[in-house]
Amino acid sequence: MSIKVGLIGQGISASRSPAMHEAEGRRQGVDLCYDRFDTKDDHRSLSELLTTAQADGYAGLNITHPFKQSVIGLLDQTSDAARQIGSVNTVVFDGTKRIGHNTDCPGFAQGFGEGLADAALETVTLVGAGGAGLAVGFALRDLGVQNLLIVDRDQGMAQTLAARLGTIAEAVPDMSHPTQGFVNATPMGMASYPGSAIPANILTQDHWVADIVYFPLETELLRHARALGCATLSGAGMAVHQAALSFELFTGQKADATQMRATFEAFTN
Ligand code: NAD
Repeated sequence: MSIKVGLIGQGISASRSPAMHEAEGRRQGVDLCYDRFDTKDDHRSLSELLTTAQADGYAGLNITHPFKQSVIGLLDQTSDAARQIGSVNTVVFDGTKRIGHNTDCPGFAQGFGEGLADAALETVTLVGAGGAGLAVGFALRDLGVQNLLIVDRDQGMAQTLAARLGTIAEAVPDMSHPTQGFVNATPMGMASYPGSAIPANILTQDHWVADIVYFPLETELLRHARALGCATLSGAGMAVHQAALSFELFTGQKADATQMRATFEAFTN
């Protein structure tokens, strides 16, 4: 079996998705080729890229920053979950149809279940309500969070996500409210956005801290939280599980997330 898939995004040269998907394909005897369409150098529009990939026989595409929301208008169908979340990171081509899915949400939930299974979930603060924050917000609701406080420096983003999530969620202007855990879903902590969106002086050892940034895995936020003795979770689990779930949508075959994680971890930070 030979399958072509790819990733559309801006500034994706360091993405680990091609390696994870191609290695899993090889392991399963699938001749899978995973291409990057980086709009930093490729000046075609999102619509043109989708049309060309579909015409060229691609099985599907992953979609990342900054297209996870704008791609929805270019699809024929969207899964119920992706429609609720308002964000698509996986498009499957089914004949002439383009079907959108969101694997970031279950990907975060699975990573959280593996790495922070005992975390207290009555009150949680989510910082960042962009493309990934939307999916993480829904995952936290699915995990059983009772009060989700959402902070974004663009308050409109926080309000939009809170409205989508309903009564369990509230947009708040800052991180002064008591909370049991923090999730960073902003780009702060990436090599290109150094620092932390969650001020060091508000953390105590009783908080748990999850970061979805995975480049680097050891962010300033996690380094500080670990030094305090907090339970922590890096962005690796979400990155691996969203990829495994996308692989299944592209190929119809179950992926081995443990093997994909080994490929992910073979990259140096
Ligand atoms: P985005 O630009 O769509 O959203 C980021 C949001 O964070 C924006 O709403 C912005 O206003 C807010 N923000 C930025 N700085 C802030 C600050 N200091 N305080 C409060 N709010 C702030 O980005 P995105 O696509 O949601 O990605 C966010 C991060 O998540 C990136 O680092 C990305 O690499 C990572 N990510 C990881 C995974 C994974 O699998 N681990 C998956 C998707 C995205």
